[in-house]
Order: sequence, then C-alpha cells, then structure tokens
Amino acid sequence: MEYKLIDRILTLGNLIGQAKLAYIEADTQLQVASWNQGARYLFGYSEGDTMGKFLYDLIPVSKRDLAGCKKTQLLTCSHVNQLGEERQCEIFYSPIINFQGEKLGMAVLAKDISARLKDKANLKQQEQNLADIFGFAPIGIYHVNIEGKVTSANSEYAWMMGYESAEAVVEQISDFASQVFYDAESAEEFMFGVFEAEEVIRFRCRLKRKDNSFVWALCYAKATPDESGRIGGFNGFSIDISDTVRAEQELKKANERLKMLSVMDGLTQIPNRRRFDEYLGTEWKRHYREKTPISVILCDIDFFKLYNDNYGHQAGDDCLQKVAKAINSCAHRSTDLAARYGGEEFVLVLPCTDAKGAMALSEEVRTCVMNLELDHEKSTVNDYVTLSLGVATMTPGPDNSAEALVALSDEGLYKAKENGRNQSICKDAS
Ligand code: GH3
Ligand code: MG
Ligand code: MG
Repeated sequence: MEYKLIDRILTLGNLIGQAKLAYIEADTQLQVASWNQGARYLFGYSEGDTMGKFLYDLIPVSKRDLAGCKKTQLLTCSHVNQLGEERQCEIFYSPIINFQGEKLGMAVLAKDISARLKDKANLKQQEQNLADIFGFAPIGIYHVNIEGKVTSANSEYAWMMGYESAEAVVEQISDFASQVFYDAESAEEFMFGVFEAEEVIRFRCRLKRKDNSFVWALCYAKATPDESGRIGGFNGFSIDISDTVRAEQELKKANERLKMLSVMDGLTQIPNRRRFDEYLGTEWKRHYREKTPISVILCDIDFFKLYNDNYGHQAGDDCLQKVAKAINSCAHRSTDLAARYGGEEFVLVLPCTDAKGAMALSEEVRTCVMNLELDHEKSTVNDYVTLSLGVATMTPGPDNSAEALVALSDEGLYKAKENGRNQSICKDAS
C-alpha cells in the first residue's frame, strides 16, 4: 500500500515536471525545501540557489499572505523573474496539513499563462478587427439563419435597405426571401442557389427596401454549417450598384437612340439610304434562297429645282416631308420599306412582290402624292407636285444583284422622265 503511494507520488511529480508546472514546498518557517525544474523556468532560480531561502524572497507572494494562508489561494500576476524574463503567472499556494490538522509547511503550484493570455489578447484583437470591418465596411454584411431570419446586419446594410438601424433590420426581417427581394424569381433563384452551392454564389438583382422602392445590388452568399455540420444559414454581402446599373441603362438607351438616328433621315423622319442598302442586302439574300421576285420603286419629284427656286428652300423642305409621309403611308406590308434615297428621291423595297404588284403600288404612290395637291406652278406636267417612278423586279440569282435591281429601276425612272414625267415605268427582269 505504502509502495503504491510512493509510486503515485513519483508519477505525479513526473507529470508536474513534464507539464512545466512549478512545484515548491517550504517548511513552517517558509524556507524552501523542494524546488522543481518548472519553478526554475518560472522564477529563474536553480534548485541549489533556493534551498533554505525564504519562499517570499523568491516568488511574488508576500510573507504576510504566505504566513496567513489557511487554505488554497490563487494569485494571478505578471512577474519579472530572477533572469529578467517577464512571466504571466498563475500561482496556487496552500498550507500542507497532516491528518492531525497540524501545519507542516507550504506547497506552491504555479504555471506560466503568458501564451494563454497572449492567445486571449490576440483573439480579442481579432474580434475587434472583425467588429470594425463589420461596422465600417462600405458594403452590406449580414447573416441569415435556416429559418430565413436575419440574425445580424451591419449599418451599411441597414442604410442600403432603408432601415433606421442594423438592429431594426434584425428585428424586422424574419423572412429573407419575401422581404428582401424585389422580384419573386430572384428570391427563388437566390435561396435555391445559396443552399445548393458549396461555394460562394454571386448574384445581381433588385433588393426591396423597407419603403418598397428597390435598389440594384450585387450579392454574394455562402451557406454556413452549424456545429453538427448541417447548413445552419448563410453569410451574405450586398453591394449597392444602382449607379452602375443606371449608367448602363442610360448608355444602352443612348446607343439605341444613336443606332436609330444612324438609320433615319433627319428631315423626313423615314429610314435613310444606309437603312435602304442594309435592308435590300438582307432581303436580296433571302429572296435568292427562296427564289421569289423582289421589286424596287425609285421615285423622283418632278421639277423640284423649280419648286425650290419658286417657293424657297424652306418650302422645299416642307414639301419633301409631306411627300415622304405620303410615300411611307403606301408601304402597307410589314416587310415593305420606304426610304429617302437622297435629295428629292425616294425608294421603296417590296419583298415578295412581282412586277404587276409593284406597278400597282407605284401608281398608288404616284396618285397619293398628286392627291396631296401641293401647288407647283412652275411644273409643266401638273398644277401640283408629282412624281416620276421607275419600277424594277428581279428574282435574285447568280446572274443579277441588288445593285443591278436598283440600276434597273433607275432606268425605268429615266424613261418615265423622258416620256413626260408624272408616270411609272416598269422594268421586269424577274
Ligand atoms: P426632274 O424633274 O428632272 O427630276 O428635275 P428636278 O429639278 O427635280 O431635278 P434636279 O436633280 O435638277 O433637282 C433636284 C433638286 O432637289 C435640286 C436640289 O436643290 C433639291 N433638293 C435636294 N435635296 C433637297 C433638300 O433636302 N431640301 C430642299 N429644299 N431641296 C432639295
Ligand atoms: Mg433627282
Ligand atoms: Mg427631280
């Protein structure tokens, strides 16, 4: 039994030594009787230096405290030891009392807690850093639990979403999907994405502010596991990109407007020559494939130079606008295109139209313009403004071209002028 006890004491001593714990014993006079390696490390004295010395001269516990100690006491302190090294110590000291209750001396068990304190300080610093980032970050940061309730949010998120404070967000957003997304599809896509994807998801959508207005945002989210490894919610970041989206939309509109302007004639507000060339090019190819006839009508105002000379350039412009409008109104089918060819010349592209149909439309255009009854006193063919028209029809194939079609209609126009104006001449090459 006694042997076993000694065994246990030895094991305990060994353990204490290995754990780098200081273990010191002193007699009733507080003179050191035992001093281990751990004590040497902590307090700086070697065993030989300490024998018979007073405990209170070697460790940072006062004579009064040691002498008056009736039960185990704990002192936590910072201590500069014999070797000038600073140690953060946790010192337990206790009277040694035998079975009869007599005090035999003092025992001290002490350990270096510098590393623990340092870890704690580091952790605190880290927490502070994170709190600062959370608080000052110029992006919205929040956490949402598995039930869809916002459990934390920073002030930027509150500001972005139109809430009075971060606390208000936490208090009021209890169903993230329905309260935060402006569009239901976005909500569904986002919530599905965040819980399905293992990685961070990136999402551009409209977020619903408290007042039901919206803000465009770029959102990032990543599911977060709980202690058991199951998904417990997600962390999210939202950046207000309303300004960027607005700029993009304006740019898009400006580009569309620019594109529109580039194919419209400024004076007459009907498509211009560029649009005509483009359209005829595409239609020619389509008709080539489908082997169907396509027609073009070239219209030229008769004696327009005289009109200008007689009524002035401004009146000439007004006349061009009216004539353009009338010609455009004759482009009945959605595929028909009327355009200003240049000067006082206009053109019509008539897809899937043979010579007969084109000729009929040409006459309709001529009548329509004449019926405007725009006075033209210098014209020798009529009292009113009239047109001469050249009609051409072709079935696209390897031996002809869109340019040839236009040239053919120009031939018709020339002939119409030659024949006395105010008429349509058809050149059928289909
Ligand atoms: P023709 O019957 O043989 O076609 O004779 P025309 O006088 O109509 O033909 P010409 O080619 O000699 O003259 C065309 C005129 O159209 C000359 C030009 O000043 C006028 N013109 C062209 N573009 C515009 C425009 O944008 N505004 C105005 N007011 N006149 C224009
Ligand atoms: Mg002309
Ligand atoms: Mg003319």
